[in-house]
Amino acid sequence: MSEPMHMVIVGGGTAGWMAANLFAHHLADQRVRISLIESPDLGTIGVGEGSTPTLKRFFNDLGIAESEWMPACHATYKVNIRFAGWSPQMGVAEYSHPFISQLDTFSERPFHVNSRTRRLGLDVETTPEKFLFNGYLANRGLAPVTPDNFPFRIEYGYHFDSGKLGEFLRTRAVANQVEHIQANITEVITAPSKDIQTLQLADGRRIEGDFFVDCSGFRSLLLQNTLKVPFRSFKENLFNGAAVVLPTPAMEKPPVETRATALSNGWTWQIPLTNRTGNGYVYSTDYLDKDSAETELRRHLGLLDSDVEARFLNMRVGQTEQAWSHNCLGLGLSQGFIEPLEATALHLVQLGIEIFIDKFTAGELSPQYRDEYNAIISERFERVRDYIVGHYKLNTRDDSAYWRDNRNNMALSESLLQLLDVWYRKGDLTQEIQRQQLESHFGATSWHCMLAGYGIFPPVAPNQPGTGDLLEENGLPRFFEGCALNFQSHTDVLTRYRPA
Ligand SMILES: Cc1cc2nc3c(=O)[nH]c(=O)nc-3n(C[C@H](O)[C@H](O)[C@H](O)COP(=O)(O)OP(=O)(O)OC[C@H]3O[C@@H](n4cnc5c(N)ncnc54)[C@H](O)[C@@H]3O)c2cc1C
Repeated sequence: MSEPMHMVIVGGGTAGWMAANLFAHHLADQRVRISLIESPDLGTIGVGEGSTPTLKRFFNDLGIAESEWMPACHATYKVNIRFAGWSPQMGVAEYSHPFISQLDTFSERPFHVNSRTRRLGLDVETTPEKFLFNGYLANRGLAPVTPDNFPFRIEYGYHFDSGKLGEFLRTRAVANQVEHIQANITEVITAPSKDIQTLQLADGRRIEGDFFVDCSGFRSLLLQNTLKVPFRSFKENLFNGAAVVLPTPAMEKPPVETRATALSNGWTWQIPLTNRTGNGYVYSTDYLDKDSAETELRRHLGLLDSDVEARFLNMRVGQTEQAWSHNCLGLGLSQGFIEPLEATALHLVQLGIEIFIDKFTAGELSPQYRDEYNAIISERFERVRDYIVGHYKLNTRDDSAYWRDNRNNMALSESLLQLLDVWYRKGDLTQEIQRQQLESHFGATSWHCMLAGYGIFPPVAPNQPGTGDLLEENGLPRFFEGCALNFQSHTDVLTRYRPA
């Protein structure tokens, strides 16, 4: 019997421990031995508290119940992102981008059709949350947990304490035979082929490996520092490169949604956990200095007189030209990061791991699969980026050069330009999204949420014919009200999970 392949993960942040768990679960029977090295001194980034519905699949895949991990990570449910203050000139105080559920099969088309009808000048309903069931749940503070006999699958994500999630996943990975090495890597030794061979640790140990997974965060120790894989910045259309973070006490009734509020030179997140509320201001240092950002966030949170300490972070927004180079796969911040407006970072980490497992199982480490993998990841990043860029491009704020420059910025991808063109020309956006095959990134309903949510419509025409509003004609409000009777309050469900 040959030796099992040694896979060495560098970094014990959320990316590293997610990878360790999924690799241990899926690759152990393919004769892969896994080690994870993390520095006892450097720590993790310590933010990243909101997810997309993809994270539910992660826990389901590993057979971990919500009642087990959620209380351990102070987690709450998330069904929606509520955007406040992004489009004041269109008269929009706030709008929702709910996660799309199976139940919305009945209402997505009416939403798309109404959005187009409204672009043609008729005064019909286009508020996203009126068409999407998770918008109903968010407005009513209901948990997305369905009774056994409820016939539709409800999609939802979570909010959680990222440090606690790391600890939870670490314990589980170590119980599943992942070797945990706590040490600083001081040198990365490569072969003449440029493949990585050995990691030199500060305590004198040398760790040899066959395949390496770089989860070393923004340091990108292997992928960028050692293998010199070039980094493609997204700064030309995502201006934000910094964040300031301040916690506030837990809310008595944690909402089932993240709140993303636009401020003078960026936006703040509000993420409700069961033990505290996470808040952070994501901004551009080209337009706002650190101290002014902190003061603005404190004012926004009513913390001007508080001595709670703020934490400052720099973000490198973009992606490496290859996610997998030689015998090294980059995951998480080491490979790329799109700013957190739609909380997509861990979503991309998870997809990166899952797609790698598929490729590895099919073709082990062949160059063909590596190239396919790189193309898929690169495309994913670009399409997620475009959706985030849309929020900045479409803003109608006029309170700073930051917002005006974002609105006037024409450094947009061809794909995004075409989507906006179809919308403004009153064309069929759903069809365009299908034509561009964007459904597996952000689908037609998400794009309608943003464009309709921002109120990007012409003035309503005079002489309305009085028909054509599919919200009422299809009886959607009554249908959703009936469905909502099956759901319990978010606060009650979370209380049930708490240990006695
Ligand atoms: C402001 C902000 C907000 C965010 N919000 C969200 C969000 O809402 N949702 C979301 O999904 N994501 C979010 N993210 C992204 C998310 O935080 C990260 O994707 C996630 O935490 C994964 O980080 P990581 O594991 O790649 O890196 P890190 O957490 O930085 O971990 C790096 C690891 O590498 C180790 N390491 C580094 N160098 C060495 C060395 N020489 N020797 C040994 N070990 C080493 C460190 O010790 C650490 O264990 C946000 C990010 C930022 C900056």
